[in-house]
This record gives sequence, structure tokens and C-alpha cells, in this order.
Amino acid sequence: MTIAVASLLALAVLGFILTVRAKDLPEPEPVSPFAHLDERKAAIYDNLRDAQFEYRVGKLSDDDYQQTKLGLQKELAVVMAEIDRIQSSLPAPTVEPKKAAKAAPKPNTCPNCGAQFNQSLKFCGECGKPMRARA
Ligand SMILES: [Zn+2]
Repeated sequence: MTIAVASLLALAVLGFILTVRAKDLPEPEPVSPFAHLDERKAAIYDNLRDAQFEYRVGKLSDDDYQQTKLGLQKELAVVMAEIDRIQSSLPAPTVEPKKAAKAAPKPNTCPNCGAQFNQSLKFCGECGKPMRARA
């Protein structure tokens, strides 16, 4: 009896799978590779809010709240790291070539008055201030 029921069930399941296959499921819409991560992120934020609320209304003890918060924050860190990982593995979208580091000061430029010299000096020949703020 049980075996009969079980095999009937198995057949039904198999039949179902085959029917679904036969229908040739359309490819799922290509979603952003972050979609599921964004959802998880949102869910974690929701949980954080819930925990905060429960803590405020006294349903969670201080310890429980901190535990929950810590756990959720860890989860969040994992999700964020995953997003980062995917982002860095994606073909970079038309990255502009890095502009020559303009911020880097020229070696022999006075940090005070901006005068330039073609040799390194301890003190500026223009304003007399030390050329290097940091040794
Ligand atoms: Zn100077």
C-alpha cells in the first residue's frame, strides 16, 4: 500500500518535471548579478530595523539585541564583500585611463610658495621655509 502510494507519487513528480521541461521554460530574465545580493542586503537591513524596534519596545534584551545586531552586521559584511567581488570581476565599464597622478607634488617644489627648483633643497630659495614638511 505504502509502496504503491510512494511510486504513484514518484510518478506524479516525474510527470510534473517532464511536463515542465516539455514546456521549454523561457530563460529567466537576465537580472543584475547583484539582484539577489541587493535583496539579501535589504532583508538584513529589515532585520536590523526589526531588532532595533524590538529592542526599543523591550522585547529584546540588551545582550540579545547586540548579538542580533552583530550577527546581522557580519552577514551584511559578507554580502557587501560578495558585491565587491562581483563588481571587480565584471568587465570594467569604460574605465577612463587613470589620469597622471596630478596630486603627487613634484619633488623639488616648495610646499609653501610653490616655487620649483631643479635640485632638492632643505629650504626654499624663495620663501626660506623648509622644503619637506615630513622627513
Ligand atoms: Zn617657498
